[in-house]
Amino acid sequence: MDFELTQEQRMIQDACRTFSRQQILPKARQWDIEEAYPRELLQELAKLGFLGVPIPEKYGGSGLDYISEAIVFEEIGYADSSVRTTLSVQMSLVELTILKYANEEQRKQYLPRLCSGEWVGCFGLTEPGAGSDAGNLVTRATRQGGDWLLNGQKVWISNGTWADLALIFAQTDPDKKHKGLAAFLVETRTPGFHSQKMKGKLGLRASDTGELFMENVRVPDSARLGEIGEGFKIAMGALDNGRYGVASGCVGIAQHALDCSVAYGKQRKAFGKAIAGTQLVQEMLANMLVETQAARLLVYQAGAVKNKGERCTIPVSMCKYYASEVAKRAADMAIQIHGGYGYSNEYAPERLWRDARVASLYEGTSQIQQLILGRHLTGLQAFEDEQQRVPAGLQA
Ligand SMILES: Cc1cc2nc3c(=O)[nH]c(=O)nc-3n(C[C@H](O)[C@H](O)[C@H](O)COP(=O)(O)OP(=O)(O)OC[C@H]3O[C@@H](n4cnc5c(N)ncnc54)[C@H](O)[C@@H]3O)c2cc1C
Repeated sequence: MDFELTQEQRMIQDACRTFSRQQILPKARQWDIEEAYPRELLQELAKLGFLGVPIPEKYGGSGLDYISEAIVFEEIGYADSSVRTTLSVQMSLVELTILKYANEEQRKQYLPRLCSGEWVGCFGLTEPGAGSDAGNLVTRATRQGGDWLLNGQKVWISNGTWADLALIFAQTDPDKKHKGLAAFLVETRTPGFHSQKMKGKLGLRASDTGELFMENVRVPDSARLGEIGEGFKIAMGALDNGRYGVASGCVGIAQHALDCSVAYGKQRKAFGKAIAGTQLVQEMLANMLVETQAARLLVYQAGAVKNKGERCTIPVSMCKYYASEVAKRAADMAIQIHGGYGYSNEYAPERLWRDARVASLYEGTSQIQQLILGRHLTGLQAFEDEQQRVPAGLQA
């Protein structure tokens, strides 16, 4: 077991840290206030290879390993979780899913555009009536000649109004329940496809979140990703990649919370001495340090499993569950250490706290991760849908 990063991974870390601390971090507060960041940033990230980290070079990616991917998410997540969310969706949920399930023509058609930042992708699973229970989607895909007609609505879709390409999950045969689901690569300029920005989020305010509306969106059968009936499996496989990105980004949030707390604690004086020299503040700092490093090691352990090409659902679920809870606790302690100033957006902890909050909700809530781990431990399925007697979503 080797805990050292390779020389290549350290170079990626240096390059990503330098870029994100100079080009993203200083602007994150303003982007949070404006509820948007400039899309051109994606092109800059693409030039550095950060938009296609684990995608083979022949499809326009950087051809790097999954630890490198985690490092990029941690560094971008340290600076701004809104930008990290865009990258997570683009790379983990869309590109890696295309890489695994698409045919060669689809890969060549879409991966180079996504890795270069020319196109943005989104992952359309959640619906107004189905989030955790992703087997229960009602968006309908109906066969018409050689084409498919898509009708339905998606909510809470990251990159939703920016997206040029939407990975849409839809039901082809309601009688088959989750076994009727299929996945489609839908170009968002297709007639009948509309999106609308969702505003007023607690955190991730600069991240583009949208609702998607599909009214008789006609796509050819060649837009189908994988086989009919494979949609649920594809969605769960995508989430094994997505959750790993969320966990890595959460390590970045926790590390940022710790760093700014140490710096603030050393310069803030109370009762004639620096607050960082008090025992109770040091207790908080020590807890943040240990939990952040434990979360990082869980991410790297999952990354090592992914690098071997082995099934990673359990290690990914563990790191996603733990790191998202750690990020919330670390941001909360950072506010405590900053005192009243921690409650103001003049300082980082307030944004870190709001941004951390979503990580135990999206891509499978903490409860859903607990149920995945509980099933792994006991062999007993707590997901069973009482009416339908089918394993309901392990997810979104
Ligand atoms: C900012 C943001 C971005 C998002 N981006 C995307 C995206 O890009 N693509 C996408 O498809 N979705 C996205 N989502 C949706 C997200 O994945 C869902 O919100 C999430 O899966 C939870 O689903 P829900 O909101 O319907 O909650 P529900 O499923 O209704 O859950 C509500 C509560 O009930 C609990 N619960 C549900 N079932 C069980 C059970 N069996 N046992 C115990 N507790 C249970 C949950 O843990 C939760 O606490 C995003 C959400 C947010 C907030």
